[in-house]
Amino acid sequence: MIPRNKPEYLYVHVPFCKGICHYCDFAHTVYDQARADQWLNALEKEILYREIRPDLKTVYIGGGTPSSLNESQLEKLLSLIAPYSRHICEYTMEVNPETLTKAKAQIMADYGISRISIGFQCAQPEMLAKLGRHHTKEDVLNAMELLRSYGIDNISLDLMYSLPQQTMDMLKESIDTALSYRPKHLSLYSLTIEENTVFGKRGVQPLDEDTEADMYEYICRTLPQHGFEQYEISNFALEGFQSVHNRAYWTYRDFAGVSCGASGKEGLLRYDHTSSLKEYLQDPLKTSDIPLSKEDAMFEMVMMNLRLKEGMSLDLFQKTFGISFEEAFHGKYEQLTDSAQLCMENGMLRCTEQSWHILNSVLSALL
Ligand code: SF4
Repeated sequence: MIPRNKPEYLYVHVPFCKGICHYCDFAHTVYDQARADQWLNALEKEILYREIRPDLKTVYIGGGTPSSLNESQLEKLLSLIAPYSRHICEYTMEVNPETLTKAKAQIMADYGISRISIGFQCAQPEMLAKLGRHHTKEDVLNAMELLRSYGIDNISLDLMYSLPQQTMDMLKESIDTALSYRPKHLSLYSLTIEENTVFGKRGVQPLDEDTEADMYEYICRTLPQHGFEQYEISNFALEGFQSVHNRAYWTYRDFAGVSCGASGKEGLLRYDHTSSLKEYLQDPLKTSDIPLSKEDAMFEMVMMNLRLKEGMSLDLFQKTFGISFEEAFHGKYEQLTDSAQLCMENGMLRCTEQSWHILNSVLSALL
């Protein structure tokens, strides 16, 4: 039986944003001070109810836009988490540049925020406007400089590619600009157009698959030339700056999630909070529990770990499920190693260089 432990990793979802980006389908609502006060009260109730361990390794405050809270709300949020974050090794908060102030940066530093993730997306003002973003590239640089002046230098930038009408030159300019801002970590995601987004409703089309593949190939080739190791399919870091929290997801650790829109996993149980703020305010303790079968969990563990360049520890798989990977995926595993899509080396199972970028087809073969 897979052990159910108290998670050492906590995700907190802040469901407010300044505006709604045209490609976004995350759980969020436009910031309103009174609603944010109500949400904080509900969150306090949930945090007190959940048995969060006092020695968390990481906390990740995402959203939404955590920095859209006003200063006293931000302080209250961080004070709610403070009893659990005394021994923390990485404390991340997502920030959008246009909502950051000196006072907020000071509060973040005071409460030990050690890592910031900023949505940069792209360098062109007209493209940012098309995406429904409310900042410029200069705002991103100013936010980074402000954070650095408060001692927070571990900054990750999110970039998007395969945007409508984006050219390779535009992508190159975005990457060059982002690199010139000296981040420690970069995440690059291709645009997916979901039906329920502004883009989806307007019928906006993404770029064709070949151009998207060329862009991804350019990204994977260029960033390592600047010292950024590609340690996960979409993530690149300077040495010592891989995301500890996100690695916990990819290595299939248990994690707790609080607030509306958040999920958690403890052993063979996954739970989801409602994504509706209204429902969360009515009952912040309610979650939908999804029991996982051992087979589901085994597949999920492989699926998440193979996103990492280093792959999955075979020993950890065996310890977690009481069965070796070879036995659990007998027949399929041999097929994938014979066709050079999976390999085992030094106790790790990983994709080969060619198959890593077509992970979905490897996973379909394992299913
Ligand atoms: S992309 Fe981020 S900032 Fe934009 S609406 Fe979605 S959660 Fe909010």
